[in-house]
Amino acid sequence: MDIRQKYLDYFESKGHRVVPSAPLIPIDDDGSLLFVNAGMVPFKGIFTGEEPIPNPPRATSAQTCIRAGGKHNDLDNVGYTARHHTMFEMLGNFSFGDYFKKEAMAYAWEFVTSPEYLALPIDRLWVTVHENDDEAFELWQDHVPADRIMRFGDKDNFWQMGDTGACGPCSEIFYDQGEQHFNGPEDYMGGEGDRFLEIWNLVFMQYERDIQGNLKPLPKPSIDTGMGFERVAAIKEGVFNNYHSSIFMPYLEKLGELVGTTYDYDAPNSASYRVIADHLRSTSFLLAQGVNFDKEGRGYVLRRIMRRAIRHGYLLGLREPFMYKLVDTIGKVMGAQYPYLIEKAEAIKASMKLEEERFFDTIDAGIKLFDEELENTTDMFNGEVAFKLYDTYGFPLDLTEDMLREKGIALDSEGFDRKMEAQKAQSKASWKGTGEAAATGDFKELKEKFGQNKFVGYEHKTYHTKV
Ligand code: ATP
Ligand code: MG
Ligand code: MG
Ligand code: MG
Repeated sequence: MDIRQKYLDYFESKGHRVVPSAPLIPIDDDGSLLFVNAGMVPFKGIFTGEEPIPNPPRATSAQTCIRAGGKHNDLDNVGYTARHHTMFEMLGNFSFGDYFKKEAMAYAWEFVTSPEYLALPIDRLWVTVHENDDEAFELWQDHVPADRIMRFGDKDNFWQMGDTGACGPCSEIFYDQGEQHFNGPEDYMGGEGDRFLEIWNLVFMQYERDIQGNLKPLPKPSIDTGMGFERVAAIKEGVFNNYHSSIFMPYLEKLGELVGTTYDYDAPNSASYRVIADHLRSTSFLLAQGVNFDKEGRGYVLRRIMRRAIRHGYLLGLREPFMYKLVDTIGKVMGAQYPYLIEKAEAIKASMKLEEERFFDTIDAGIKLFDEELENTTDMFNGEVAFKLYDTYGFPLDLTEDMLREKGIALDSEGFDRKMEAQKAQSKASWKGTGEAAATGDFKELKEKFGQNKFVGYEHKTYHTKV
């Protein structure tokens, strides 16, 4: 079943305009977001009244999202939970001052439960509302018995894209994956566990938060929803873990070939497979959309994700570039929906390979240093060593932190910061000569070979202005 298409078709049949996924770098790049992190981002100007309300005042999309920094950051969840990815697709329907809570719930419930659409069993479903939202609590009872509706506070049921912008109370639909997945009290809806899987968030867009943090009512209450495509696909395929669905298995299989061992969920190294599969997707999309490895900004986020993946390859015993060998697989899995993954495959591979070569050059020595220091560590990991790992061996700080988390050891981040400050003071051009900056030359060559690698997005902007 093509869930993505069914979703778009369903909402089109309810008068929504189908809008293509916008690029990952916000078109209106006002600096408030690193990457598009939700389906509503391309429409944020319409919600806040900066852009005119389109006709029809309803839209639906399957939007690629990245949550690897900023307010929504799932980088540290990948490999640990069954449901998080750094890059995922969010299915959404949007009402711009048109329908509100009642209709949004009715649509969502029909799509989730109707035999024609997701056909999820009703006795597995739960919904949550904001604790003060009596209206939502009442309205849901047209569909769900009251004892299946839970009330939670701001942490779980108030949604915001970032520190500023459109936001509002929300209501979420959860799917109970079964008692066998119960891990303890943290497994409440919205908690850390995976038993109650959050599949769909319906946001009642009512406010705009300004820089001071104040909430001001939006011109018109609106609807923004987001459903996790990979999560729903996993449920429909009957697998508990997103990574075991057909959306991810091809990467795990191909990687198994490269490593020489078949992926085994129960093996101690299985998280490394999942991290690599995840990071392959986010890095491929970012590279395809024109982000390049860099020592700062978005390009540095890309580098951090990539180097985490390379380190996991190293843990699996790989000692030479391997990520670029998975690029054809992503083309096979996602190319029909995102043709630029195939069109840009050679450029993506070349960039990846170069970055992999760079890091494989120093990773051995870096890991040796890390291990030696770890042996001498009783309390906190020495910040100066973390700095040396960063400066000499190209280990981004968050990579070292990730490695320490596996060992349950904290980092002396003040020590790291002190070294960083000292180095900056020593030389204004302090980045020059570090493992990071030396990349520029090689990447410049690639750029010349493959062009600027600029992503010419869709006529998404036209959608706003045409109408
Ligand atoms: P969770 O609590 O599981 O982290 P969330 O509350 O942060 O999810 P929302 O911001 O409400 O997620 O996003 C809307 C929907 O997008 C979620 O209900 C979920 O289905 C999906 N989603 C969110 N984050 C991810 C992710 N990192 N990977 C895959 N799907 C995601
Ligand atoms: Mg989350
Ligand atoms: Mg949540
Ligand atoms: Mg949510």
